[in-house]
Amino acid sequence: MSDQTPLIQVIGLKKIYGSGESLVEALAGIDLSITESEFVAIMGPSGSGKSTLLNLLACLDRPSDGKYLLAGEDVSKYSRSDLAHIRSQQLGFIFQSYNLLPRLTAVENVLMPIMYQHTGRPPSSAEQYKRAMVALDAVGIANRAMHLPNQLSGGQQQRVAIARALINDPLVILADEPTGNLDTRSSEEILSLLLDLHDRGRTLVMVTHEEEVAHHTERILWIRDGKLAADHQNGESKPMRVDLSARNEHKESPL
Ligand code: ADP
Ligand code: MG
Repeated sequence: MSDQTPLIQVIGLKKIYGSGESLVEALAGIDLSITESEFVAIMGPSGSGKSTLLNLLACLDRPSDGKYLLAGEDVSKYSRSDLAHIRSQQLGFIFQSYNLLPRLTAVENVLMPIMYQHTGRPPSSAEQYKRAMVALDAVGIANRAMHLPNQLSGGQQQRVAIARALINDPLVILADEPTGNLDTRSSEEILSLLLDLHDRGRTLVMVTHEEEVAHHTERILWIRDGKLAADHQNGESKPMRVDLSARNEHKESPL
């Protein structure tokens, strides 16, 4: 991929659910590009197609029409199993409801994406474990590694999900309403972690309906009725910071 190639490029992207009378055109032809290390928010009214767009970008679903180039590779015609491969190798996800496996500890949840990697020599379990612990440490909850999700607060569960999203060093992190279930303080902490990832050069695409959250990103894409209604670069406003200093002491941080 040359430096000029956008990391994400979609052309005429459409998604239609159902058929006949129950047909819904959730995306009606979206064109957009996202370059490496951007932090982009997707906003719009409920039902406008935000999650549909994010799910397509996340290779969780296939478009009905149009092209999706990820790092220059046209993945729009990939089979579901090829998409699953791309997901496990190149993408990281953060969901509103954390989506942790309830019977696994925090560290085991972080390990899950490594377990699903099928290329190359699998790292030894000791190496894997160390990597997962470093990732938990980087989001400030190494001391909760042996806890089950239901023994953690919402903010702590979302930190585990962030560590899990990072463990495979993804090309891009896709987040759907990552602060949607959290109280104000936890939201600020999670947003702070995401801003930190952006500062370290990560590419992030985040759906949110909260303007305060979106305003901390560099760019806001507005979706309305399945179409791109606006594409704003945010002004000079400096991101809000929450001091999470303990996190920054670790040189091995994968963030
Ligand atoms: P948003 O995330 O902006 O609230 P969605 O992308 O979830 O919007 O939904 C866009 C439209 O597509 C809505 O009209 C929704 O009802 C419809 N939709 C979403 N997912 C499905 C699905 N799996 N089957 C049928 N319709 C769906
Ligand atoms: Mg949604």
